[in-house]
Amino acid sequence: MMTLKEALTLSPEALESLRAELKSKIEGDSELGAYVGMETAGSGVPIAIKDNIQVKTWSVTSGSKILQGYVAPYNATVVEKLQAAGLAPFGRTNMDEFAMGSTTESSFYGKTLNPRNRGCVPGGSSGGSAAAVAAGLAVAALGSDTGGSIRQPAAFCGIVGMKPTYGRVSRYGLGAYASSLDQIGPMTQNVEDAAILYDIISGYDPKDSSSADVAYESVADKLDPSRKLTVAILPSYLEGASDAVKQGYDKAVEALKAAGHTVVEKSMMDAKYDISAYYITATAEASTNLARYDGIRYGSREEGENLSDLFIKSRSEGFGEEVKRRILLGNFVLSSGYYDAYYVKAQKVRHLIKEEYEKLFEEVDLILSPVAPDTAYEFGALSDPLQMYLSDIYTISVNLAGLPAISLPVDTAENGMPVGLQLIAKAFDEQTLFDGALSLE
Ligand code: GLN
Repeated sequence: MMTLKEALTLSPEALESLRAELKSKIEGDSELGAYVGMETAGSGVPIAIKDNIQVKTWSVTSGSKILQGYVAPYNATVVEKLQAAGLAPFGRTNMDEFAMGSTTESSFYGKTLNPRNRGCVPGGSSGGSAAAVAAGLAVAALGSDTGGSIRQPAAFCGIVGMKPTYGRVSRYGLGAYASSLDQIGPMTQNVEDAAILYDIISGYDPKDSSSADVAYESVADKLDPSRKLTVAILPSYLEGASDAVKQGYDKAVEALKAAGHTVVEKSMMDAKYDISAYYITATAEASTNLARYDGIRYGSREEGENLSDLFIKSRSEGFGEEVKRRILLGNFVLSSGYYDAYYVKAQKVRHLIKEEYEKLFEEVDLILSPVAPDTAYEFGALSDPLQMYLSDIYTISVNLAGLPAISLPVDTAENGMPVGLQLIAKAFDEQTLFDGALSLE
């Protein structure tokens, strides 16, 4: 598939034939399950859209039964920005229900396969966007990342996925999972395309109260892979990683040195605290955000004998198992008597994580870290939800601290699956993030 950079130079006629080509390829490979809808909006460069980002008049379901039949009444800000830049939303991609998951298996629509090995998961929750780009069924895509949902599927499918600094990209029109962690970001074939798409969707938006009112400077036109940077590596972090990931990490360290960067060994606090802080924070926020799905205001409704019976039946029928589990967890950690012990404590840990990163970034420009403990695994391999939560260990602290990070393929494992690693930068230093990533590509 041609790159985004190339597609941006096409004539209207060439774009029309690109869309036709994409449409027939997507229809010819429905087995992959990357898309859950083929709506199009406009005639620009086609960009695949995760099913939790609103495009006016399109169905938008966050991969859930409870939102079946719901039509977006307005555009997400990122969609307005795409259209203003000559790009066009093209097709809705599959995702874990309400972005809760790491495999895309919890979608109401069924699973998405990994194009690199169809017996393996594509990662999640933005698995549809990652699979579409990796299979050549999209020029580029948008995903959302609350705890790794752009970076981990990008790593599993062998593409580039970037999570911007919290507040950099508007969340207006994004189906909320955990509002203090969610960010929309680009999923692309290469680093330069990620920078181009990131530039297009970024910037202050008064419609999002958490949007950062800071001057925005474009990055794609200033990319400089020859900059010499100081990069922290975290040897103790690798203990829980597979041999394939360790080998990819070693190769990336060599590549960083060969590119002239200074590599320094650092350590960070045990990442097991990240998991606790994240799953308390994310489920607490999710339980609040998902309270709006009551069978009255959005999507599907079950009949009930009275109002509260209607709420209960609509929610019981409409939400899947994983979503229910998280609503219960979130209600629990927010309930009186447990609030201080769990939620407040998690916020303190979150603060410590942020501080630790800030301290580290006084000395280094970037951090190199794994994205996931292993490469993409076979369907069913992580059937225990707790085990799946643990597999997010390398990605979630970035969201807790609000930092930008980019996942890119650095190696191929013996089993043929891609190995992706991430670079992490200080808040609002996306330029350094892209420059460093480009030097590793
Ligand atoms: N796997 C993580 C979770 O289930 C992250 C998901 C995401 O980033 N949306 O919460």
